[in-house]
Amino acid sequence: MKASFRRDLLGWYRREKRDLPWRRTRDPYAIWLSEIMLQQTTVATVVPYYENFLKRFPTVFDVVDQTDRSDEKLLKAWAGLGYYSRVRNFAKACRVVVEEYGGIVPASFEDLKKLPGIGNYTAAAIASIAFDIPVAVVDGNVMRVLSRLLCCDEDISGAHAKEVFQKMADEALEKKHPGDFNQAMMELGAMVCTPRAPACSRCPVQKHCEAFKAGSWEKYPVKSRKISYRDEKWFCLVAQDKQKIFLRRRAVAEGMEGLWELPMTRDWKGLEKARSKKLKPVRHTIMNRRMTVIPVLSSDFVGLEASGRWVREKDLSAYPLSTITRKVLLEALR
Ligand code: SF4
Repeated sequence: MKASFRRDLLGWYRREKRDLPWRRTRDPYAIWLSEIMLQQTTVATVVPYYENFLKRFPTVFDVVDQTDRSDEKLLKAWAGLGYYSRVRNFAKACRVVVEEYGGIVPASFEDLKKLPGIGNYTAAAIASIAFDIPVAVVDGNVMRVLSRLLCCDEDISGAHAKEVFQKMADEALEKKHPGDFNQAMMELGAMVCTPRAPACSRCPVQKHCEAFKAGSWEKYPVKSRKISYRDEKWFCLVAQDKQKIFLRRRAVAEGMEGLWELPMTRDWKGLEKARSKKLKPVRHTIMNRRMTVIPVLSSDFVGLEASGRWVREKDLSAYPLSTITRKVLLEALR
């Protein structure tokens, strides 16, 4: 990539970048938190969670201090973002930072990668943005942008894609300003060079783009392997009694331990005789599972588990609820 490409991209980023709270800080802890929250979650959703989490837990010490007692408050601050293993790993990694690095986030790509929940992408993002370490980030956005810029035929779902694109991204990187450059590539992928309708007419690097010159952006990125989704149907029991709702706590073996949820079942048989009413289905996708969840409003409480409890509707917000439960309650209590 030519120096003029880097100049055009960085100039555009500095003029046009979105004003996001994690772009106003160089605090490695805050940047790390934003990167973890942004995994699989949109910017608009993350902003209020990020601000709220930082208010409650402004340093690694606050996270560790809280998890010494119970992780319920951490889970609650995360509730609604989904993928709860992220916050659990974040808490484990904060403990390592406190115990092994005296509470200072390590300024090293390799050391960051050793922390729980931090892979290549997140380590590169923290290292470059917080510490100016010249290492390029590579994710789906960056692969799409690079493959269009260079008309690259490498299959992004192939086994070697990450390696190949990492090499390309490292070569393209502006080494004096790696943090801004990485964010500029991500911003370009999110705001201009989008998957289905890239805004080539206002693209700051249009004159450097091979796919634009060839009129062939639709061909890139090359992706041969598609995600195969598994469709699942579930029933979710909304047991209501005197403005109270029955919730159960997830156990260790079920994953997402500590979250509270409405009882769920695949089997309608147990519910058909209950005094119940089916509500509009709620859709939820997690990894490759596409779930259709039918809320069942019921006043027949036979068979509810001992592990649960009745919670007043006005107190529901005090519980770390699973995402499906939050969606179902929105439908059921509207
Ligand atoms: Fe993407 Fe179009 Fe810009 Fe090329 S010119 S990088 S295809 S937005």
